[in-house]
Amino acid sequence: MPEQPPSPYHLDTAQLDWQPGNVPEARDFGDIYFLLQQGLEETRYVFLQHNQLQQRWPTLQAFDHFSIGETGFGTGLNFLASWQLWQNIAPQNAQLHFVSVEKHPLSYTDLERSLSAWPELTDFATQLLEQYPTLTAGYHLLKFDSGRISLHLLLGDGIEGLEQLRSSDHPQWKAHNHVTMDAWFLDGFSPAKNPDLWNDKLYSLMADLSGPHTTVATFTAVTAVRKGLAAQGFEIKKDKGFRKREMLFGQFNPDSRDKLQPHTDRPNPKSITAPWYFQQQTPTQGKHIAIIGGGLAGCSSAYALAQRGCKVTLIERSDRLAAAASGNPQGMLYTKLSTEAGTLNRFTLSSYLYALRFYRQWQKTHNISSEHIDFCGVLQLASNAKEQRMVPLLQQAFANYPELIQCVDQQQASELAGVDMQFPGWFFPAAGWVSPVYLCQSLSSHPNIDIIFQQQAITLEHQQQQWQLSTDTGPLVSADAAIIANSHDALHFEQSQTLPTKTIRGQITLLQTSPETAALKTVICHEGYITPAINNTHNLGATFDNGDTDTSTRQQDHQRNLDSLHRMIPSLLPKPCAIDTSSLTGRAGLRCTSPDYLPMVGPVHDQQQFLADYAPLRKNAHAGITSPGHYYPNLYLNIGHGSRGLTSTPLCSELIAAMICSEPLPLPRHLVSALNPARFVIRDLIRNKV
Ligand code: SAM
Repeated sequence: MPEQPPSPYHLDTAQLDWQPGNVPEARDFGDIYFLLQQGLEETRYVFLQHNQLQQRWPTLQAFDHFSIGETGFGTGLNFLASWQLWQNIAPQNAQLHFVSVEKHPLSYTDLERSLSAWPELTDFATQLLEQYPTLTAGYHLLKFDSGRISLHLLLGDGIEGLEQLRSSDHPQWKAHNHVTMDAWFLDGFSPAKNPDLWNDKLYSLMADLSGPHTTVATFTAVTAVRKGLAAQGFEIKKDKGFRKREMLFGQFNPDSRDKLQPHTDRPNPKSITAPWYFQQQTPTQGKHIAIIGGGLAGCSSAYALAQRGCKVTLIERSDRLAAAASGNPQGMLYTKLSTEAGTLNRFTLSSYLYALRFYRQWQKTHNISSEHIDFCGVLQLASNAKEQRMVPLLQQAFANYPELIQCVDQQQASELAGVDMQFPGWFFPAAGWVSPVYLCQSLSSHPNIDIIFQQQAITLEHQQQQWQLSTDTGPLVSADAAIIANSHDALHFEQSQTLPTKTIRGQITLLQTSPETAALKTVICHEGYITPAINNTHNLGATFDNGDTDTSTRQQDHQRNLDSLHRMIPSLLPKPCAIDTSSLTGRAGLRCTSPDYLPMVGPVHDQQQFLADYAPLRKNAHAGITSPGHYYPNLYLNIGHGSRGLTSTPLCSELIAAMICSEPLPLPRHLVSALNPARFVIRDLIRNKV
């Protein structure tokens, strides 16, 4: 078989040599990460002191946020020192966003060993290690201290990572960003040893992502760095260095950038990328958010915003949370991986890895029992020839990520499951199941969330900077921003009525434990799935019927679920005909999905305005359009999660909350655009189909 290239998610971890005192040295760069014994002191002097953090942080208000951009995460020493200072001097409830790029992350064991050098940071280091991500290329969001600290690890080439942080790369909009960094830590290895991370492209990106209060500090005083930063509008000074004779620090001045770099570049029609996903800033005036829909998307959005200090009103038309598609007793927490890194696969991997961290944190901080969550692993059976051909390909592509996925033969599959399997497959050791109903109740019990049950919002009107939500009998609530999170019912609102949602009916069957099923240890996915029992009951599911909108349970669908289990795993159900389907119970729900299987998450666009602004796309997909997208102010959508809501909603809800609160987004721009609900009208215009 020809040699397959490594997984597109693959990163080379740092190759280290160790100097005395657990001081790591990067073999390829011939440079150390920190000084023996004085590393923490150097961090405090160069980065914290020269960005005046000690003076700036106590003056922040509650619920303000402060963003630091760093080149070179390395051992995380700068991050931990910042966190420690933040904890000591920043107001309770203010939030720190630490955005750091890293091309060669340390392996977990190397990180653990490096950080052992700093006993006073042990508490912080332990928490970092606990959440240290699977080292795949892309953005990873790690949240600590009930959301007060967000670490955005942008793994991969640093310039590419920062480039994706901008809201647009359109020449006209690239410096108009949703968020700016308040301080920069330039900490790549020395410029002479690592020119890739010290160049004009970096300084220009930094300027795009800076505002009038942004400061910068670096350990080096190399002339090219000083001149490069100065050419982009940073007013740079020198001070005595810590390890070097001199160091640089300074402040960004947007006016001087405009003079130095006049805005002469005009879009080249062949190379422009979408201006339509760029949303002009429409700052949320206050922080009261109305959310329509009390399922997974609504409850997790409510939680993400409540953690940020927003006051949330959640509106649910039924008399309980998770009453519709989110209401199965056990929801599967897992993903599908592919050897290709297309948009869908990149999103699924990112959202899966974030969901695992999110639920582990939830389990820990809320003390959730094994009745409601179990990371028991998920075994996916390769039950047809196509899937069986994928097993060795996945094996090779993800060989370095056994914590993520392991390919298993039939024998190993049987051992993992605790029952006989007749197929090979792949195993997600960190996955499992969660009770969505319990999760929704738990997340929305946050004190900042009010729930209005048994009311159905049917209109949304924007008046005097407020979204007025009304029922058929009159006004219900008004809020600074609103999130439509009610699945396919989003089509009932005028603003979102044109979205191309698809409805897929799914029925699960509740199956009593039998002597054969009692030994089941993991969730098993085949054509359908079966979960290990809770309260002597397995969830068996689910049927998949496109376009069927009936939510009553059907005996013949129970039969389909039983037949499928018998066909795929006969050891679990040797005699399906012995079960009387009329005695079975279950539930049917309607999944809401989209034509490209990605959820629809982001600001709600004005369809008529889009059709007018982007009409030239009908004739020419490369038409040199400069108009940015026209969106309703502070109106967002979080729908279309299909049957993967447990996996996708935590990250999507963070994304919406970050948009509302003007924070760094937890996904790169190309994925944010891929989730933007306006993508369908743009595609249709390009095909001249709308
Ligand atoms: N700030 C770190 C700390 O607190 O431990 C130390 C950073 S270390 C001096 C420099 C880091 O830059 C290394 O981890 C290295 O892998 C990373 N790096 C080097 N070139 C890079 C590039 N092109 N993109 C992203 N990171 C890069």
